[in-house]
Amino acid sequence: MSPDAARAETPADRIGADDARRRLVHERDARLAQLTAIEGEAPPGSTDALLTAQTAAIRQVLAEIEQAEARLAAGTYGTCVRCAEPVPAERLEILPYARCCVGCQEHTG
Ligand SMILES: [Zn+2]
Repeated sequence: MSPDAARAETPADRIGADDARRRLVHERDARLAQLTAIEGEAPPGSTDALLTAQTAAIRQVLAEIEQAEARLAAGTYGTCVRCAEPVPAERLEILPYARCCVGCQEHTG
C-alpha cells in the first residue's frame, strides 16, 4: 500500500502470487473462449487471413500466459526478463503475463 520499497520482498510477495495466478487463469479462460468463438465462426478449412491472424495472436497470448505461469512456479514472476528489474504491480494487474517492464517493452516493440 505505501510506497515503501525498502523492504526485501520477493516479486511473488510484491504482486501477490495467488492473485497473479487467478488473473492468469482468468486471462487464459477469456482467450480460450475467444478462440472457440472465432473457430466456431470459421467455415471448416477456412484460410481467411484475418481469422488466421486473429487465432495466431490469441495463441501467442496463450503461450505467454503459459510462460508467465512457469515463471510464477519458478519464483521469477514479476521480474523483467530483460533487465531483471521488478515489473510494476500495476502493469501486472493490467497485463498479468507481461514479461518486461515498460521501458524494455518500448525498446523491443
Ligand atoms: Zn526491463
